[in-house]
Amino acid sequence: MARIVMKFGGTSVADLDRIQNVATRVQREVEAGHEVAVVVSAMSGVTNQLVKWCQELSPLHDAREYDTVVATGEQVTIGLLAIALQTAGVDARSWQGWQVPVRTDGAHGKARVEAIEGEELIRRMQMGQVPVVAGFQGIGPDNRVTTLGRGGSDLSAVALAAAVRADRCDIYTDVDGVYTTDPRIVPRARKLERISYEEMLELASVGAKVLQTRSVELAMKQRVRLQVLSSFEDKPGSLVVDEDEIVEHPVVSGIAYSRDDAKVTLRRVPDRPGVAASVFGALARANVNVDMIVQNIGADGSTDMTFTVGKTDLMRAQDVLGKAQAELGFEALLADPDVAKISVVGVGMRSHAGVANTMFRALAEKNINIQVISTSEIKVSVLVAADYTELAVRALHTAYGLDGPAA
Ligand code: ADP
Ligand code: ASP
Ligand code: MG
Repeated sequence: MARIVMKFGGTSVADLDRIQNVATRVQREVEAGHEVAVVVSAMSGVTNQLVKWCQELSPLHDAREYDTVVATGEQVTIGLLAIALQTAGVDARSWQGWQVPVRTDGAHGKARVEAIEGEELIRRMQMGQVPVVAGFQGIGPDNRVTTLGRGGSDLSAVALAAAVRADRCDIYTDVDGVYTTDPRIVPRARKLERISYEEMLELASVGAKVLQTRSVELAMKQRVRLQVLSSFEDKPGSLVVDEDEIVEHPVVSGIAYSRDDAKVTLRRVPDRPGVAASVFGALARANVNVDMIVQNIGADGSTDMTFTVGKTDLMRAQDVLGKAQAELGFEALLADPDVAKISVVGVGMRSHAGVANTMFRALAEKNINIQVISTSEIKVSVLVAADYTELAVRALHTAYGLDGPAA
């Protein structure tokens, strides 16, 4: 007997048949004698539509009202799944974030979970009831609904698993595990039976959407046993485990890509102390995250500064920097949303040289121009034109010897 948190993503609850399928899977675990709590996402496509409506009405909309709108998708699926479970004879009850409550900070649109009160849910689970909890949403210090950033239901599931002291957290999705890269782009991607928290964290943070970054971070911190598996097939999935549970580490364990970033270049920024602090300080105050940054050596007292921000933050970044142009003293702001970040990740990089060089060579052979480069201890990322995303990912997957047998 175990206590399990089962999380189902958007494609797993995309219509009533799939919700029935989820109910059957939950029922199976309950009948096996386990205590189960479920976390669900909105039906696939629904959150995108809700986000689009907010953007269409006003690109610089109030983040609190955005949360009011985008959190609604999950309210529908918790109710429907609870009905499906009850109809199948399973005792179940839906829970919105504020009802649990899932307490978050006040960063609307990308709130952090601060605390979840798990005792009432534990009591219900011990009575044999299945709590069906809305992913992605919580309640902020202002007593208003918050959301946890796109893909945030994974974080809801891990945070809930920690709060109810679950034995494991199973993330059911539309692929049967974590692969060496997105299997939808590279059919020869290989499934990893095990991946370390560190590598999963790095892969997620550079775009592997299979798990949301903060969910992996929290699972690592709270020692939550995470498993990624298919909601459509009965197969073992991938386990996310401690690094020392993996016997052999390849130099590169995976390739990820992200089309979620936009490139911003400030032309002819004055080359003097404090300029970077002013530029990035202004962005931070507007809650805009900056990722890759390059700055050239100044020539005639000025320099060009290039960095990336999330595409959804681009308008806000342009607005903030535009308003501060006179004070910051740059000549022009150029924005390019048609870029992709391609990254190679592996803990084996710590002890191997030449990883970046293999990457640059493989991209050069395909005639792909590199716009920005950034590295960390276990990752190398490059920014390229978005049109080359698939080509770059496939070329790197082959260059690092990750291709499995042809299907
Ligand atoms: P869910 O709606 O269940 O949360 P997501 O779409 O967020 O599902 O995540 C699953 C998707 O992640 C897969 O369909 C796949 O295209 C993508 N993906 C990206 N990188 C990887 C990877 N390395 N391994 C597996 N899937 C990946
Ligand atoms: N429904 C939310 C989204 O699409 C949360 C999630 O699916 O994890 O981002
Ligand atoms: Mg997801």
